[in-house]
Amino acid sequence: MAHEHPDDHDHRGHSELGPMDLRVRALETILAEKGYIDPAALDVLIDTYQTRIGPRNGARVVARAWVDADYRAWLLRDATGAIASLGYQGRQGEHMQVVENTPSRHNMVVCTLCSCYPWPVLGLPPTWYKSAPYRSRAVRDPRGVLADFGVVLPPGTEIRVWDSTAELRYLVLPQRPQGTEALDEDGLAALVTRDSMIGTGLARTPTP
Ligand code: FE
Repeated sequence: MAHEHPDDHDHRGHSELGPMDLRVRALETILAEKGYIDPAALDVLIDTYQTRIGPRNGARVVARAWVDADYRAWLLRDATGAIASLGYQGRQGEHMQVVENTPSRHNMVVCTLCSCYPWPVLGLPPTWYKSAPYRSRAVRDPRGVLADFGVVLPPGTEIRVWDSTAELRYLVLPQRPQGTEALDEDGLAALVTRDSMIGTGLARTPTP
């Protein structure tokens, strides 16, 4: 009997996509219909950045920097070159800068204008990174945003917010967690989360 009155059923399930998602979907449909884009090619591109290229790349960069002081120095001096030396380069990663967290300074990345993000090392940006609340609040109230993400820093820690642009994209080098002296590079990379490289999280501490 539940479907006896089809016009009465709940349509809310059809509105899970936000206004921007709906616009993107409509635009994609029109462009595909007119033959400007190939949906199959788009799918391959998106799948590539979602599965093959992703935060695991950035985690390799961070782990190498933690174990190799020379590499770390290179990374902070010339991030684009140091990252490319590990094989990670390409679109949206042509001009990289790595900002290092220290006990006295925490770095956080945002794109206040849109959603600029370093694809070759982090893949595609998470939805919240593209959201208006994050983009506006990250600058105005970074400590509040960090608290929302469950990160509480000592009161004296300076927070620096970096505004990514099409020209320059940032990757945070998180602090190496305590108790990781015995870990090799693979073990260290497993502790590096995506959010820790955006600055809305910290690297995980190893489970004993
Ligand atoms: Fe942007």
